[in-house]
Amino acid sequence: MSKIIATAAIRGAYKYVKEAEERLEKILLTKGKDAKISFPNTAYYLPLIYALLGIKINTLEDAVMALKEAKALLPPLPTENLWLPYLGNTLDAGIATLIAEEIIEALKYLEGENPQDGIWLGFTDDAILRTQGIKLVDGRMPGFAAIVGACPSNAEAVKLARELQERNILVFLASSCQGVSMAEQLAEEGIEMNWDTFLVPYGKDTSAVVHALNFAARAAMTFGGIVPKGLEEARQILLYNKNRVHAFVLALGEDEGVPPEQVISDEKYATAAGAINFGFPVISNVNLPQILPTGICTYEHVVSNVPLEKIVDKAIEVRGLKIKFSKLPIPVAYGAGFEGERVRRNQMHVQFGGKYQPAFELLVTREMEEVENEKVTLYGPDIDKEEAMDEQKTMPLGFFVEVAGRKMHKDFEPVLERHIHHFLSCANGVMHTGQRDNIWTRISKEAFAKGLRLEHLGKIVAIKLKEEFPAIVDKVQVSIYTAIEKVKELLPQAQKIYKERDERVAGMSDEEVDTFFSCVLCQSYAPNHVCVISPERLGLCGAYTWLDCRAAYEINPRGANQPIKKGRGIDELRGEWEGINKFVYETSKHTIERFHHYSIMSFPESSCGCFECIVAVIPEAKGVMIVNREFSGDTPLGMSFSALAGSVGGGNQVPGFLGIGKLFISSRKFLKADGGIKRIVWMPKELKEEIRERFEKRAKEEGVPDLLEKIADETVVKNIEELISYLEKVKHPVWEMPSII
Ligand code: SF4
Ligand code: ZN
Repeated sequence: MSKIIATAAIRGAYKYVKEAEERLEKILLTKGKDAKISFPNTAYYLPLIYALLGIKINTLEDAVMALKEAKALLPPLPTENLWLPYLGNTLDAGIATLIAEEIIEALKYLEGENPQDGIWLGFTDDAILRTQGIKLVDGRMPGFAAIVGACPSNAEAVKLARELQERNILVFLASSCQGVSMAEQLAEEGIEMNWDTFLVPYGKDTSAVVHALNFAARAAMTFGGIVPKGLEEARQILLYNKNRVHAFVLALGEDEGVPPEQVISDEKYATAAGAINFGFPVISNVNLPQILPTGICTYEHVVSNVPLEKIVDKAIEVRGLKIKFSKLPIPVAYGAGFEGERVRRNQMHVQFGGKYQPAFELLVTREMEEVENEKVTLYGPDIDKEEAMDEQKTMPLGFFVEVAGRKMHKDFEPVLERHIHHFLSCANGVMHTGQRDNIWTRISKEAFAKGLRLEHLGKIVAIKLKEEFPAIVDKVQVSIYTAIEKVKELLPQAQKIYKERDERVAGMSDEEVDTFFSCVLCQSYAPNHVCVISPERLGLCGAYTWLDCRAAYEINPRGANQPIKKGRGIDELRGEWEGINKFVYETSKHTIERFHHYSIMSFPESSCGCFECIVAVIPEAKGVMIVNREFSGDTPLGMSFSALAGSVGGGNQVPGFLGIGKLFISSRKFLKADGGIKRIVWMPKELKEEIRERFEKRAKEEGVPDLLEKIADETVVKNIEELISYLEKVKHPVWEMPSII
């Protein structure tokens, strides 16, 4: 244990506790002790303090109490005579620091300073935590990097960000060095920073690093199901992070000609000491004293003096991250960090499809000898032929993939085809939306300048398909059509195939099969949750249909999707079967004894955390409201999606609440036992529009063709009273129905 680090960290902790104290005192004078203090849209109070101390902070008075605890943790300031060479002191100083920092960051919201400003995003709310945190826990993201400081140059900052993105590592950016932060460097270079690109700028102050740690602490509470009470739970939360959230800190600075203490300040040492408590090691390009022996972290605590170009590899090694990283033969970077990246009109070199030109993608099965492996053929002009583009710089596109494999099956085609989107969007500079014959793809000027051509898109899909589906895909060839006559000729043939597929699924009913499927993918963080998936009800995340599960089971018989024999019927209306009950009881680790597939009121499905929508009963209105994840406003219940999600998720069976996938809303089995779609009284306007086509078909079947118009939304009602008078006014069919409870 280095004396210099310990001393600096403890000094830093004192500074932060003092700062928090002064700011609290000041605001207490004007607002009083009962003033509310909170972060936006979280059910976890000040999450880190809640996790570490078990204290639920609501008011300034509560914050004063927490700060007292922080003060009590402060070890004596080391002097020449008093020197305690234990890591324990530094760690305590780190915890005290985090508590003080969280109070400081929360006070900003109260002091009128908006931490969500310009490029800075401030606190991460629970809704984002659920969608993004899952990826950390289930391995889609191997880990996160909290970057503190800045790179010596903008170019190095871009390079470092790209390296992390390519490895799917989530990046949190905070703090600064010599007045510059890495996020600002990236912004100057026009790099897109948000949750979709895996680059998340928290704030310029060092205390903003606390948001990365309160994100990690909430991951343990949300996905690990740990409820904080005191020391023991705090220890569990820290351990959960050490074992499951593979994170590390990159402390960056420029130390040429600058004294090290200016590069890494006391405040940064103190914050780093906080991170070490989580088992997150600190890697630095600066020459600071190292802490190598292992103990709290899985590996070393502080590794310094690592050259910038080696820092990512070093961090991966130290933290023991498992990274699936394939180098594709393409001239641009590739990784999930680019998946959500947009290519704006002024950045665009060319686009395909959209509303301008016909375009489609199709994947079909072929015999082994019909496919030449990884062969990509372009029929028509490439994207360097400006004359082939229209005035919108658009070209037509037919993207035709032929797959062969001894175990390949026609039913897998749509499952594999849907992956084209994911594969292509992960290339830096390629934007891809939609599927089938409504795709829209853009390629950026930058990617074009780097040499990206259509052939590369074919290569990506061919290689990735084999890599991700080795059990069923042996050979892939891709034909790309850009000549308009050819695209027009092929399009109707593709449409015929889409239609046949749709009829296969849409035509299916729960009654005609004797087997449903389970999905337990989410048990990694909601240990008792199981989705029961039938032809007429998909998984609550919206990603798994019955056909998908069947395909997944065939691809991997020991995977997360297992067949469930329905067995003897117990209650046809509510959807209860002996076989399903038994399976759910076992798979939910004996927590769910009975299961009703078609009801929200009696023994409904449990909910993990990734539902597309929440259905909630509003007894006064005799119906239910549905709110989708994208909707950020308040529902008539006075709660937002994220506030509701807090009480619905976690794998519990909660009558009156249900997490569902969007497609289920227009299913014939939607709350069949409780009255079906006629019970829906409120949905956000955007959701109504999104599902309109399918929903109206269903409404007609139910004999209420104008049901969607009678369903209220946020533009017409704000609370339950208004909702009730609206329902009366429009004569919503629910008014004729008996009470729902
Ligand atoms: Fe599977 Fe259900 Fe989780 Fe979706 S929500 S991944 S269907 S367990
Ligand atoms: Zn889930």
